[in-house]
Amino acid sequence: MGYKPTCAHNALYLAGVAAPYPFKMRPLMQKPMRVVQCWDDGVTTDIPLIEILRRHQAKATFNLNTSVYQQERSYLTTFKGTEVLRLAMSELRGVYEGFTIGNHTVSHPSLPTLPDAEARREIVDGRDFLQQHFQQPVDGFAYPIGHYDARIMELVREAGHAYARTIVPTDVAFPPADPMAFHPHCHFLAEDFDTKYEAAKTSGVFYFWGHSFELLDDAMWTDFERRISRIAADPESEWAELTDLFAAIH
Ligand SMILES: [Zn+2]
Repeated sequence: MGYKPTCAHNALYLAGVAAPYPFKMRPLMQKPMRVVQCWDDGVTTDIPLIEILRRHQAKATFNLNTSVYQQERSYLTTFKGTEVLRLAMSELRGVYEGFTIGNHTVSHPSLPTLPDAEARREIVDGRDFLQQHFQQPVDGFAYPIGHYDARIMELVREAGHAYARTIVPTDVAFPPADPMAFHPHCHFLAEDFDTKYEAAKTSGVFYFWGHSFELLDDAMWTDFERRISRIAADPESEWAELTDLFAAIH
């Protein structure tokens, strides 16, 4: 799985015209691991999360619903004693500027409990609305509550998505056996995050996910930024877009 330089690159290098990777000290023959991440539900804590991601030039996908955002910020849930608010509809474009949007359905139902027509509407309308609203292709999907089955996988595939994320942790995320059951390595707060991150270097892709509202206090935010900063500084890794992974194999 070694990195093969292109002929042109190699020729220039051998001719002494271009030095390899002058911008980053990296072994010539080793391709960096691509680190991909996604965040669900479109909540107000995505704002500080995105500030951190921007500081470290990190790429990320945000999986959003389409019927749940109101004119004003609105109550979503209470998580470990902390009220979680959805963003206001009018904020969405500004908050996610420069990031990729994924489809998380219209209203966040448990899809396997719905009849075909209703499930299809949740999937297809969710994607259509997001593409319109954000004026970008929406090719990624995340199953609400992680619920899916073979029938729902087929509906998500038919709707034209490149992949659909589950919440089942795995050891080798990419390439998935079926892109409609794309398992991440782990949740961002998983105890084995660092172990899996290092182990993933042999497969070339590391994938984690979460909700920003799970960051409950300053200490957790500081730890999170430390982790993002470590990944950003790791010469063996680079940030990547989820959809780019799939663009390469389709
Ligand atoms: Zn969700």
